[in-house]
Amino acid sequence: MKIKNIVVGIIINERGQIFIAKAKSGEGLWEFPSCLIEEHESKIVTLKKELKKVLNLDMDDALYFFQSHYQDDDYMTKYHFYILPLGTSTREIQPTVYDEYQFITIKKLEQYTFLPETEIILPIIDKIHTFIASSHVNRFKLTFSNSLLFWYNKEQRQLPWREKRDAYSIWLSEVMLQQTQVDTVIDYYKAFINRFPSVFDLAAAEEDEVLKLWEGLGYYSRAKRLKLCAMDLVDKYNGEFPKDYAKVLKLPGIGPYTAGAVLSIAYNMALPAVDGNVLRVFSRLFNDDRDIGEQKVRKLVEEKAKELLPEDRRHFNQALMELGATTCTPKNPECEICPVSDICEAKTLNRQHLLPIKAKRVKNKKLSMEVALVWYNEHLLIMKRPTEGLLANLWGMPIVERDPNKEAGLTLIEELEDTYGLEILSIQQSGTAKHVFSHRTWEMTLFDIKVKEQLEPEYPVVNWCTDEELESYALPTAFKKLLD
Ligand code: SF4
Repeated sequence: MKIKNIVVGIIINERGQIFIAKAKSGEGLWEFPSCLIEEHESKIVTLKKELKKVLNLDMDDALYFFQSHYQDDDYMTKYHFYILPLGTSTREIQPTVYDEYQFITIKKLEQYTFLPETEIILPIIDKIHTFIASSHVNRFKLTFSNSLLFWYNKEQRQLPWREKRDAYSIWLSEVMLQQTQVDTVIDYYKAFINRFPSVFDLAAAEEDEVLKLWEGLGYYSRAKRLKLCAMDLVDKYNGEFPKDYAKVLKLPGIGPYTAGAVLSIAYNMALPAVDGNVLRVFSRLFNDDRDIGEQKVRKLVEEKAKELLPEDRRHFNQALMELGATTCTPKNPECEICPVSDICEAKTLNRQHLLPIKAKRVKNKKLSMEVALVWYNEHLLIMKRPTEGLLANLWGMPIVERDPNKEAGLTLIEELEDTYGLEILSIQQSGTAKHVFSHRTWEMTLFDIKVKEQLEPEYPVVNWCTDEELESYALPTAFKKLLD
């Protein structure tokens, strides 16, 4: 995509009035002085040169205020707005290209018609005086939040959970989005909301039904805690999320990120919502080399994010996450179209590809597993997994870690005979499959096994299912893929 950069000057006189001008070439529309800049040029130097040329004006200060962009079929045009205070000395303006100019109050601006490009600034122009009066830190805060919110307002993705603003929908989507891509979540979210339109419906549901709807999303403990949390909300808070951070943190499955996201988006509470996307954006924005996997670094980012919160926390938090998800992405950040590139330290130093720093932690352990597809008269044996550990309480097929000292299939045969009490008539290796969890990978060898009787041991709980009956069970993807 071709990118054009334009720098725009908002000149303010000592009475707080803003300079506007119009030229015949602008078809009678008002504008602020502006000029095109090349990639290698300094924005401030170029703007000052332009003001000298078109107004015969020497300016000292130029405060970076705001960034926005327009996109059409051919170009992305980025506007970089600077505020230039004229100070108390009277300066003589001698326009060379404008036919008419005025200094007017901010309130009167809406009575004038501007060139569409410079009109972008009007919704936030009332913040100019606050900006000038602010400290350096607060100016950064205003520039950052104004540029980010403006961008989010135009660029946000249309997602089903953004259609409503109630705490239940936000919470549900946030839990589903943990470790899962947006595209995957959309259909699951719609199905969930359709089946459980309120927290009362979810609280009253059978866990198996919740797990069935969750089937394929992975990390099933999330679904179980979702249901427990719904029950708590109904029992203790009449189905409402309490507007109290400490109380929300005590609910099952809710950590600082989810609590911050739900309370800030639903109730506009002054809380940060720092997920992996936000950690990455902050690490680049402040060129921070610390390990974002460390708890203390996360805490510092949460404090920083809280300091930067504007009044509109609801959209600011979503905008930050959106920036990380769509633009400041892990591998190829799109700095050219980023709304905060002018104040991003990593971008300025060209270090964005080196950040964030994340030390490698637990290695993903490969396990050699043997899985039994046990058949009796076209009925497949499935078993309920233990209440603790990986895929707890879910249905699956008998599976064991292979003893490397035994020949293939033998560990499995012993498990089926000793634990399940099955009498095996035949066993045949039928394929392999792999499933990657966060900390381990199952490298599975499958065995088709025929047994003499349809036994039901005391432990584990088993069922013998036809193909049709299998449909009603919430099989995690690790097992479901074995049947495809
Ligand atoms: S300029 Fe680049 S690195 Fe900086 S926040 Fe934007 S996308 Fe990320």
